[in-house]
Amino acid sequence: MILPGKTIGVLGGGQLGRMLAQAATQLGYRVQVYEPQAHSPAGAVAHREINAAYEDLAALTAFARECDVVTYEFENVPAAPLQAIEALTQLYPHWRVLETAQNRSREKRWLRDNGFPHAKFSEVAAGGDLGAAIRQVGVPCVVKTADFGYDGKGQLKVMAEADVAAAVGKFHGQPVVIEQFIDFACEVSAVVARSSGGEVRVFPISENIHTNHILDFAIVPARVPARVLAQAETLARRIAEKIDLTGVMGVEFFVTKSGDVLVNELAPRTHNSGHYTMDACVTSQFEQQVRAICGLPLGDPALLSPVVMVNILGEAWAKGEPKWEVLLAEPAVRLHLYGKSEPRPGRKMGHFTVRAADVEAALAKARALKAQL
Ligand code: ATP
Ligand code: MG
Repeated sequence: MILPGKTIGVLGGGQLGRMLAQAATQLGYRVQVYEPQAHSPAGAVAHREINAAYEDLAALTAFARECDVVTYEFENVPAAPLQAIEALTQLYPHWRVLETAQNRSREKRWLRDNGFPHAKFSEVAAGGDLGAAIRQVGVPCVVKTADFGYDGKGQLKVMAEADVAAAVGKFHGQPVVIEQFIDFACEVSAVVARSSGGEVRVFPISENIHTNHILDFAIVPARVPARVLAQAETLARRIAEKIDLTGVMGVEFFVTKSGDVLVNELAPRTHNSGHYTMDACVTSQFEQQVRAICGLPLGDPALLSPVVMVNILGEAWAKGEPKWEVLLAEPAVRLHLYGKSEPRPGRKMGHFTVRAADVEAALAKARALKAQL
């Protein structure tokens, strides 16, 4: 067990690292953030921020020596330097988990090889025949770069034969994955935690509404049949066990119109759709991450109230500073801002949660408040 007072190292300085640092500090840990860019959201609330490149082995080594355990808050940390860290201190989730999840080809293959339900796909190596691979999967489909995708960046829907040429032009020379387009009924996700001792806890399933490929609303409890909830929870648990997770992982799913649950992606860290846990669960996903990587008993993920989370993107600044007082005047609303200075469109600047007696009331209120910002 890594007890309070010890030092947790976080690779990445974004909002997930910030909220992790806040939870860790609350439990009495020291936190060091390793992040290439100075003045990061996580660095602002940590005991120390180290600014160096992820490829800088000397800086990574010095960082690892000062930390009792290291974790990461986003997927695009190169996996190779993590091996160096794992030789010096404890690193969770293990670097192989990141290596699998950060590349869409490896992730999809892992799902297929381990028998988890997923959308049919094919892979194209750099310079391969994209047109032929698209025809193999069939139209409609979605072409996605194998590396460095997030918030729908590096994706193109191919809805008709006429779109194939555009896809070939856009992705020419890049390794890609082509997925069958799923005409889903809705999207849901699970945040699952597993400790080194093998204890597993799954937070309540969230129903996710995306706008322009970015999470807009997370609704809990998800408005899907109990059978779908149970299936998503079971899949998340089995994935955590099969991949030998130590830490926290977000699992995204498509729910088809016939009620099948397909795994979309894995994120070996806390997840945007799990932010509601901070305000509506006994334990937050960030505290759970601390507990899991430190070998502490896992916390109770039980839901205390129906809740809706709304992301606040840079667009909210289109007409000047958003009217925070609208949110702050509401007793059942909590506001979280990440301390980012530049509100660029599509950039996640913060979020708020709305609790209510039932989820429809929470959603109606959330939509109304978002419109007033
Ligand atoms: P993030 O990391 O933010 O989740 P991402 O860029 O990794 O985003 P995905 O989760 O693969 O991307 O896709 C983003 C969204 O695009 C999905 O949540 C879904 O709404 C839509 N989408 C992706 N793949 C498919 C598919 N095969 N069929 C239908 N819709 C899809
Ligand atoms: Mg996704």
